[in-house]
Amino acid sequence: MKFTKKQIERYSRQIILKKIGVIGQKKLLKSSVLIVGAGGLGSPIAIYLAASGIGKIGIIDKDNVEISNLNRQIIFSTNDLKKNKSSTAINKLKKINPDIQFKSFNEKLTKNNINQIAKNFNIIIDGSDNFRTRFLVNDYCIDKRKILISGAISKFDGQVYTFNFSKKKSPCLRCFIPNMPTNLDVDNCEYDGILGTLGGIIGTIQANEVIKEILNVGNTLCGYILIIDGLKLTFRKVKLNKRSDCYCNEKKK
Ligand SMILES: [Zn+2]
Repeated sequence: MKFTKKQIERYSRQIILKKIGVIGQKKLLKSSVLIVGAGGLGSPIAIYLAASGIGKIGIIDKDNVEISNLNRQIIFSTNDLKKNKSSTAINKLKKINPDIQFKSFNEKLTKNNINQIAKNFNIIIDGSDNFRTRFLVNDYCIDKRKILISGAISKFDGQVYTFNFSKKKSPCLRCFIPNMPTNLDVDNCEYDGILGTLGGIIGTIQANEVIKEILNVGNTLCGYILIIDGLKLTFRKVKLNKRSDCYCNEKKK
């Protein structure tokens, strides 16, 4: 793979970084990331990953843009109302960086279609708004030993988790939440409310984690949860232990 003059200029501020360089930028351009949910988290995630030069980006979201989404889903504009989220987001991203291969999935992620959709992506980034999808993505990534960067936001707070299931010691979402919540399909934002900026803070940290995982630089968040209180402005990194009776442990035997 040889950079064009335009690519060297586009990515020059990253290439100049010693921890990235030409080799690192090529790694980014060769990588593939699936974004689950084009919402408050998916918006900044998609924008930053496209701008940074991730070679292949997929977005799955069946919903259409609603006016109540616009306080946080910054990839959409008022004239996008009622349009499908994944394809509308990708149209915006193409304008940011035409260098990238995009794939839109205008469907709901289920047990039946997840492998077909996710198999060609190295990293899955979860920005979904309900537990059913979060657990589905978690279990799939365990089975296929993929890297999962998961995020959650509610009110003024948020969390980020990185699970690298190619490593045997990685815990999973079920290690943190052992008992299946009863409100599997509930969209927290709708009931609890959400300050829009939290999507930006958490989504941008998720995008940052993706880039670090691809480049293999810095300290990975794998094995920890980052808990952010947006009001007190505290960032706590809490160790997440792998539970011996968890699904992720059974799978590794
Ligand atoms: Zn687990």
